[in-house]
Amino acid sequence: MNQLEKIRGHLKTINEHKALVTKLCFRCGLYKQGLLHDLSKYSPCELKTGFKYYQGYRSPINAQKEAEGHSYSWLHHKGRNPHHWEYWIDNAKDGLKPVAMPFEYVAEMFCDRVAASMTYMKDKYRDDSALKYFEDNRHSTVFHPDTERQIHYLLQYLADHGLDKTMKRIRFLLNRYRQTGSPGI
Ligand SMILES: [Zn+2]
Repeated sequence: MNQLEKIRGHLKTINEHKALVTKLCFRCGLYKQGLLHDLSKYSPCELKTGFKYYQGYRSPINAQKEAEGHSYSWLHHKGRNPHHWEYWIDNAKDGLKPVAMPFEYVAEMFCDRVAASMTYMKDKYRDDSALKYFEDNRHSTVFHPDTERQIHYLLQYLADHGLDKTMKRIRFLLNRYRQTGSPGI
């Protein structure tokens, strides 16, 4: 692949991913988050990595980590985007600890994961694809127990009931969360 193809490929991937997440967020009633989702991907720091490590079938961040051992671009991204659980890792006297994510960001994380599963799996995508990815990667994630329970609930709900019913369910849970301070799941 030449440089121009990589640039085109990366821009197409991030534009399509963002459009899909925006659509899903809007269906949940998350308008501002839908518009702001992943905007830092258009910053020079993150674009540089995307253009250099674009492969098409997985995230350039993972390719960069494999090649260089770490990714400043990922640190830049997760520090600016509260829909990633890594954003919510705090440090305390006894070490690092995960803080519970506000539920609107759990919902955005759900939309992000579903959109990413659709993009990378194409016609192999099923309602349980994002749940499977979550379960396969549990060993390398550090969620607050409330956050872990909530994202698992949403992914399981999608696997059991499909996308339309899950979008409705999230709207309902977000409403309850805004009124009572808890989604009740
Ligand atoms: Zn993101």
